[in-house]
Amino acid sequence: MVVGGGAAGLMAALELPKALKVLLLCRDSELRSASRWAQGGLAAAVGHDDSPQLHRADTLEAGAGLCEPAAVDLLVQEAPNCVERLLQLGLPLDRDGSQLSTTLEAAHSRRRVLHAQDQTGRALVELLEQRVRQQTNVCWLQGGLVLQLWLESNRCCGLQLLFGAQLGWLQAGAVVLATGGGGDLFANTTNPSTARGDGVAMAWEAGAVLRDLEFVQFHPTALMHPGAPHFLLTEALRGEGARLLQSNGETLGAHASEMLPRDQLSRAMVREMKRTKAQRLWLDLQPVGATKLQQQFPMIIKRCQQLGLEPLAKPLPVAPAAHYWMGGVATDLKAATSVQGLYAVGEVASSGIHGANRLASNSLSECLVMARQLKDLTPISINAAANSNSDNNVESLDWQCDANLTITAQHASKKLQQLCWQVAGVERWGSSLREAEKQAKGLQNLLNLDAKLKTFLAQKPGQLYSVSAKQQEKFELLWDQRQRNLVSLLLLQAAAFRTESRGGHFRRDAPLPLPYWCRHSLQKRGDNLRTAAVGL
Ligand SMILES: Cc1cc2nc3c(=O)[nH]c(=O)nc-3n(C[C@H](O)[C@H](O)[C@H](O)COP(=O)(O)OP(=O)(O)OC[C@H]3O[C@@H](n4cnc5c(N)ncnc54)[C@H](O)[C@@H]3O)c2cc1C
Repeated sequence: MVVGGGAAGLMAALELPKALKVLLLCRDSELRSASRWAQGGLAAAVGHDDSPQLHRADTLEAGAGLCEPAAVDLLVQEAPNCVERLLQLGLPLDRDGSQLSTTLEAAHSRRRVLHAQDQTGRALVELLEQRVRQQTNVCWLQGGLVLQLWLESNRCCGLQLLFGAQLGWLQAGAVVLATGGGGDLFANTTNPSTARGDGVAMAWEAGAVLRDLEFVQFHPTALMHPGAPHFLLTEALRGEGARLLQSNGETLGAHASEMLPRDQLSRAMVREMKRTKAQRLWLDLQPVGATKLQQQFPMIIKRCQQLGLEPLAKPLPVAPAAHYWMGGVATDLKAATSVQGLYAVGEVASSGIHGANRLASNSLSECLVMARQLKDLTPISINAAANSNSDNNVESLDWQCDANLTITAQHASKKLQQLCWQVAGVERWGSSLREAEKQAKGLQNLLNLDAKLKTFLAQKPGQLYSVSAKQQEKFELLWDQRQRNLVSLLLLQAAAFRTESRGGHFRRDAPLPLPYWCRHSLQKRGDNLRTAAVGL
């Protein structure tokens, strides 16, 4: 079973051995994912002046000492092969004459980001969706929310699914988590609302090791227009000449070149905004030129115009926002987690490729490369008869919930997002992180959702419940808050634990990287937070 219908999940469904029957599950029926929203492109060393070695060096440099070298080698060697495979499948990547067109993003020493205008993610996902639908061994269920993993003798052998009006457990020889990141844990984010770290929560509850959860990448240029979503304005715009300006029209100054790595530029912007008490800065697209803007970035131009902005004539309001989660469920080079039968691919995973900071556009490439690593996956044997509900005996779910609780949970959700943004955003302080941990625990205790959702949590394999539409609506709201609380707390704990600054994690009270901390942080249910050496 593959959980997630973004680039990682779709590619995993395509790459798993054809002899296996694959069930692909995703919670959205309207096909929303970070993958679909990806604008810039995917990184691969395909140019004449480029090489996997140069791509490797840039990735390691961005990762600030925490990349797993073997994982990076795999990415840089295999990314060009993945591009070749995508071209064979029919991906319409832009071209300059007969060559693939490449663009430049921050911290890349070469132009190596391949793109399909500014809708690379959409083109990629639509192609993969089409291929998945043609694949006879794959069955795709859209609109199913996966709640928990099924564990027996410390092996993962299935999952709990709420699909339509039914709640039950499904057995599987292997489960692949491809549930994406956690950007929506923050008030300001470029991510869809489904990016709330569900996979991390499920893996943690199943006893899997989580790695480097403190490392979040903040993108410097999200649109900050009142009432509009924090829509991403891709770095490729700056790669093509767009300039960052202060409110008075002046540039950011010598300390902030437009092509600084994202963490450095985000910090420079946040400081400038604090100094001038501004809520936003401005991105001037005019240096790119109207023709290029319309050719290469048509979707961005159109979206801005729909919001009443004039991107070809006036600077756009921007500020940093949470964008990519480097941390996640620790995996090896075969995408296997520390729990037998459980795999993780894409943003939910910590494969070791990104270390403390992701090199721009390495994530789509990672989704593809790591999904391909599943091609030799051998499922564990399952006893299909055991725990099955052969009589299809469906019980009506006996569960009610106070209307006030859903309102309180919705408020709590907003409060937690604000807390994460203020305390675990671009700049962090140890004392505030500890205080925020207490507040997040306080919210957990106040809502007491594990008790309120006991009927769901305690459902046994073999039981099948029918859930009314009303129950489903309330449950999903509360479950959302339960997962957010758990994952936000894990992130805050990791950020408080690392008393240094590195990559995407910047502590005002410990602003330098420290040699001792050139190690991963590890979290596992029931254990204290600990560190582990890189490259083991
Ligand atoms: C605006 C934006 C622009 C970006 N631009 C780029 C770029 O140009 N290049 C690049 O390399 N990267 C880019 N990224 C990052 C990149 O898009 C993501 O890292 C990558 O797409 C993640 O893919 P994924 O398949 O792991 O997760 P996603 O694409 O987020 O998919 C997750 C899937 O899991 C499903 N899911 C989640 N929880 C559950 C559950 N409990 N039950 C069932 N289903 C569940 C969701 O419904 C969704 O289908 C961008 C990200 C954003 C937000």
